[in-house]
Amino acid sequence: MLRTENLCKSFEGKVALEEINLEIKKGEIFAVLGPSGAGKTTLLRVLNLLEKPSNGRILFHLPGSEKEKLALRRKMAMVFQEAPLFNRSVYENVAYGLKVRKEREVVIKERVERTLVLVGLSGYESRNAATLSGGERQRVAFAMATIFEPELLFLDEPTANLDPVNEGIIEELILRINRPGVTIVLATHKQAEALALASRIAILNSGRIEQIGTPEEIFYEPKTRFVAEFVGTKNIFEGEVKSKHGNKMLVATKNFDLEVPSNSFNAGEQVCVCIRPEEIMVLREDVPAKTAHRNVLSGEITQIISQGGAMLRLYVQVQEECLVVDVPRHVAKVMNLKIGKKAKLSLKFGSCHVILRDNR
Ligand code: ATP
Repeated sequence: MLRTENLCKSFEGKVALEEINLEIKKGEIFAVLGPSGAGKTTLLRVLNLLEKPSNGRILFHLPGSEKEKLALRRKMAMVFQEAPLFNRSVYENVAYGLKVRKEREVVIKERVERTLVLVGLSGYESRNAATLSGGERQRVAFAMATIFEPELLFLDEPTANLDPVNEGIIEELILRINRPGVTIVLATHKQAEALALASRIAILNSGRIEQIGTPEEIFYEPKTRFVAEFVGTKNIFEGEVKSKHGNKMLVATKNFDLEVPSNSFNAGEQVCVCIRPEEIMVLREDVPAKTAHRNVLSGEITQIISQGGAMLRLYVQVQEECLVVDVPRHVAKVMNLKIGKKAKLSLKFGSCHVILRDNR
């Protein structure tokens, strides 16, 4: 759908985007995930031609070239973090864009009705937009953007100000809009949202792309420490490759050695071993560890925090290292896991992922 080449954007000498190279495929949901101030809004505004890049270019695979900016812009639409609605009825808000384009009233009526069904707001036509809840206002904003049947839809943190119920409604709506092949670029700071919706994710940090990949690649094979930390890896141990044999290598960290899958690293290299909290298992004290459990560590539970719903997060002190472990609530109950108790942890060989240490 579009490709960027070394896209840069500065505001009065301050760099907001640096050498952005990405490709967005037709029909996909592409998430731009990053913390506040990473440059997500700027990237969306540049891609949507609302802002000129300071350097680099965007190549669109859409009818119309950069010279025919209006034709190109008509294929695109954007939904902002806060819906800017008129103090008028829902119908007038949604119909506004088509009226500007001088569509016939009968066409406008049919399109508004169809779009309100899509966003789950049929029956709201005569309601004043100012009286709507935040979630309903955001759905009106989606209706205003999709009424033109855009081929490319940009969504800038569309659930940032919503409660979990409305967040779910908007996420379901995004999937519904995407189904007929509409390409969606979604900026978000919520990793769960990117994971649930996107086919590919770009991680943005201080205007630079750290990694582009499928949700699985980003979550289980982060390339840098920033990506690992941002997507909640939690357990990152600095160490050195001690030895390498076939498909495994031994990494010595300050407090313990770990056997991990071998990749492109060599003995003597400074690395970090990463493992997600949900990938660590708590073993029963009375059952001898199986040989498959290569990395077994013993520690003491120092804190337990509810993750909401079915999961608990345990903090387990192993010498000077505090490991973060997520366990289902019922497992914690059956195993009687409590603060002050000993816990035997298994860091599964295949779940350990290694990155270069200075890769920040
Ligand atoms: P948030 O999630 O908080 O909206 P973001 O990832 O969308 O953040 P941007 O709004 O794109 O980040 O901002 C990236 C950087 O560019 C910030 O340092 C911001 O202050 C700066 N910036 C953005 N727009 C402008 C502007 N019009 N003039 C000057 N600086 C700007």
